[in-house]
Amino acid sequence: MGREGGWWHDGGVSFPTATELRNSADAALAACGAAPLADGPHPARTPITGAVLGGVAATVDGSTAVTRATAAFAAWRTVPAPVRGELVRRLGAQLRTHKADLARLVTLEVGKIESEALGEVQEMIDICDFAVGLSRQLQGFTIASERPGHRLMEQWHPLGPTLVITAFNFPVAVWSWNAALALVCGNPVIWKPSELAPLSALATHALFEQAAAGMDLPADLNQVVLGDGAVGAQLVADERVSLVSATGSTPMGRKVGAAVAARFGRSILELGGNNAAIIAPSADPELVVRGVTFAAAGTAGQRCTTLRRLIVHRSRADEVLARLSTAFASLPVGSPLAKETLVGPLITRKSYDTMQAALSTAVSQGGSVLVGGDRHLADIAPDAAYVRPAIVAMPGQTAIVHDETFAPILYALTYDDFDEAVALHNEVPQGLASSIFTTDLREAERFMSPAGSDCGIANVNIGPSGAEIGGAFGGEKTTGGGRESGSDAWKGYMRRTTNTVNYSNALPLAQGVEYG
Ligand code: NAD
Repeated sequence: MGREGGWWHDGGVSFPTATELRNSADAALAACGAAPLADGPHPARTPITGAVLGGVAATVDGSTAVTRATAAFAAWRTVPAPVRGELVRRLGAQLRTHKADLARLVTLEVGKIESEALGEVQEMIDICDFAVGLSRQLQGFTIASERPGHRLMEQWHPLGPTLVITAFNFPVAVWSWNAALALVCGNPVIWKPSELAPLSALATHALFEQAAAGMDLPADLNQVVLGDGAVGAQLVADERVSLVSATGSTPMGRKVGAAVAARFGRSILELGGNNAAIIAPSADPELVVRGVTFAAAGTAGQRCTTLRRLIVHRSRADEVLARLSTAFASLPVGSPLAKETLVGPLITRKSYDTMQAALSTAVSQGGSVLVGGDRHLADIAPDAAYVRPAIVAMPGQTAIVHDETFAPILYALTYDDFDEAVALHNEVPQGLASSIFTTDLREAERFMSPAGSDCGIANVNIGPSGAEIGGAFGGEKTTGGGRESGSDAWKGYMRRTTNTVNYSNALPLAQGVEYG
């Protein structure tokens, strides 16, 4: 195989050199207006080869960032919401112009294939469009008062400095879901990105600064604080931070949720998932193969909504698993810079080790690996972790199937009747995304009914991953209960006041109370 778009791809004899990768990162950073790689304290790595691309300079410390955001809030909350929306409109324009540059950094830092990286930036553009419209629709109700000559109404006011903690796997889109809403709602943003993706964050911030330039705005409406979990924990504990929106693993969310609750702050938690698809007797086989393969193997199994459990009706199990095994075996695994690749690398070698440990445990619990799980390209990229997505047939929903292993493992289970399928589906501690493949209307509706899926997302005839920004995104149980992005998720970023106005000459009390 030869060069495709200037890069060696899967099956070729070599991967890009460290210099080529660094130059590519520097070119994308420069295009976004961000500083080039230097010898700073924060290393930027690429999972494509496992190499360190370079260092990143230190950013503002957490406490100073909160002080600045608090000052920015005092001014920003009084700026009319449609003017705040104009800033987000300009951010969307910057993202449109630099979509390919930012997507390249996402590919370099977290290993997404080009089309998924472009899709991630498109999601940022979409939420900016949504938030611009929202900036003219932050509406409260007028409510019928029980008293004559009184008006009862609600207003939504800005909440305060908003901390956005993001995970590595959506290094920029999750910031935008939060930031676009927080900004139009009147809240300055402090961003603690994943330590695995500092470059994407700094490039996004540079685009934000260009969007803000030329507008008469308070300073520090978006600040990036680089660092690890300890830096995040320090920000979380700061009482001046009104809202903490944290996206990442459930263990992280347990700590963040408790710390914010202890100081009566507000949090939006977007944590781990263990998402399933039920394959009913009537399921369309073509939709199943395509939908399941993308949902389970896309982003190398590193989406919070990745399909991890397949609950197949016994009558369809042999056929469905045979077709899926063939599809999984043919997936091109390799450098995400190559056009043909559909499965890029795991984020770290540690993720590979975790995946292997989960596979061994699954086998020890009676599982049988039908396809995948084997390492690829170790000779070409020994410090990277390429792996073929695995399907493991399980005798039941054993302990390992209850865990979220953040790697491409699809556990296959069988069921005999619909209630059993739903019970298996809801048995795990997580509650993010779910789906059913069926052409039976009753089954589809029952799956989405109160007695059906217990997840925040319940889909029919598509997999659990790949949400649109227009809906509220998030999940229940150990997924954390938060909602971000579309619908009325904006209310999580504002405080509600209820106002009663007496325009009469009397002073009637509520509930008919007489007082002197
Ligand atoms: P992670 O929990 O290791 O890290 C996420 C972020 O939390 C990072 O920025 C990290 O520095 C920070 N952090 C860690 N400990 C902290 C602490 N004590 N206080 C404050 N911040 C802390 O997660 P990850 O490996 O980057 O991402 C994968 C996980 O994220 C998976 O579990 C995945 O399901 C989940 N995820 C969930 C969603 C969702 O919307 N539900 C979206 C993306 C990822």
